[in-house]
Amino acid sequence: MDCIFCQIIERNAPAEILYETDTVISFLDILPVNFGHTLVVPKGHFRDLTEVPQEIIGDLFSIVKRLSPVIIGAVQAEGFNIIGNNGSAAGQTVFHCHIHIIPRYHEDKTRFRRPQFLQYNNGSFSEYGRNLRASIQKEASTWKEK
Ligand code: AMP
Ligand code: ZN
Repeated sequence: MDCIFCQIIERNAPAEILYETDTVISFLDILPVNFGHTLVVPKGHFRDLTEVPQEIIGDLFSIVKRLSPVIIGAVQAEGFNIIGNNGSAAGQTVFHCHIHIIPRYHEDKTRFRRPQFLQYNNGSFSEYGRNLRASIQKEASTWKEK
């Protein structure tokens, strides 16, 4: 398959692998926002987060949670961003699901801030809430976790 992350997982492409389990692998991002920028990746080829089976999600975020403080401590960062880009509109460029752990410093030049804040007008705040609750409730009836 023509997927660079699958090639890394299969050891057919070079990578600076940091840690792996049966289901998840993590390696350094080759073009880091800051040094130590790490990707946490399910070993199965899933296009984005929505495709990752529910039973793998716990493994994925458990490793994100475990690695983050270790990496941040090791590179003496002052904070970190956890980012997942899903779909090209969201900036995804490698279509094999991954979570970024990005070390941050008060004085780094990176800004993930929003350029603007929208306002909900004319009752649309409660309308969005009502509609989204209805969508979620409909879907949640099929979920196993309660
Ligand atoms: P995204 O924009 O969320 O899809 O991020 C993809 C990330 O993968 C980018 O930050 C790239 O720098 C990184 N990347 C692409 N190819 C490689 C590679 N061969 N090894 C490590 N990181 C990579
Ligand atoms: Zn893949």
